[in-house]
Amino acid sequence: MIRIAAEEAWAPAEILARYKKLLQEKPESWDPGFRSLWGFFLGPTERATSLVARIQDMGERRLADMDATGIARQLVFLSSPGVQVFDASTAVSLSWECNDQLIEKINANPERFSGLAAIAPQNPAAAAKELQRAVKLGLKGAVVNSHTQGEYLDDPKCWEIFEAAQALDVPIYIHPNTPPREMIGPFLPRGLDGAIYGFAVETGLHLLRIVVAGVFDRFPKLRVVVGHLGEGLPFWLFRLDFMHASMVRAQRYAGVKPLKMKVSDYFKENIWVTTSGMQWQPAILFAIEVLGIERVMYAMDYPYQFVPEEVKVTDELPISEADRKKLYQDNVERVFRL
Ligand code: MN
Repeated sequence: MIRIAAEEAWAPAEILARYKKLLQEKPESWDPGFRSLWGFFLGPTERATSLVARIQDMGERRLADMDATGIARQLVFLSSPGVQVFDASTAVSLSWECNDQLIEKINANPERFSGLAAIAPQNPAAAAKELQRAVKLGLKGAVVNSHTQGEYLDDPKCWEIFEAAQALDVPIYIHPNTPPREMIGPFLPRGLDGAIYGFAVETGLHLLRIVVAGVFDRFPKLRVVVGHLGEGLPFWLFRLDFMHASMVRAQRYAGVKPLKMKVSDYFKENIWVTTSGMQWQPAILFAIEVLGIERVMYAMDYPYQFVPEEVKVTDELPISEADRKKLYQDNVERVFRL
């Protein structure tokens, strides 16, 4: 058994420089979540400096950190918010550049790294095309860093991205972002917009929108992966099923249509979760119980949550060694075709 970590972040210096420029040029009100996240991580604190050094590195430093924690392979992708904060044409060309760069870094250490393509949902046709190109060059799927300036992938204009992923037989990883401007207000005063809670609320909402929009009925072979043990949703499955059925019966909302299966069924058919940032035995065991061992994959969330001792939680889970191998290795190899 080897340990593979499935939600590991990377951001090249050019992207970080562009984030810095956005922070300088845009007004406070433009994207408060982006400012909250990158205003901090591009700031002067020790935590920020260490993160910025690690997130850019795809060489010795990252490999040393992986060796120190027993991680044989990382599945790496462009960190939140990816290219999704830029205007459409900038985002499209940056996605090409980032993917070329990531492929080059992976090819320098193909035994240690695999990666997902950055795409620009601002231009769904270009995003689908870039996914095809990147997969041909060796990337294993795409990452979407949740909402794109307040827009979500359940909008039918984005469905050609899903169509491309299904045709290529590669997953889409929906990774957190801070809540959009329209949603973030009540989170900010108590610092709840980021990884502590806002990420999960925003990303869980995004995934649910995709499910109830009928995306998986239209693309039944589509595979979607989310981190943080499903962004809280496994705990909600009973209520989601009950309430969705009740709303469909009542014809209460124009945008709520009958689905082919229960909401929870899509979590057992089309959706996988990783343990990123959730190294907590009861929660991992619960996810395994309600989703199945085949649906849960290990992730560290490097370098945001780089706590070497946390690997012990998965090492010591009270499950069989065969199941531990599924968590660390078999599931991720199968879902991402590593
Ligand atoms: Mn992450």
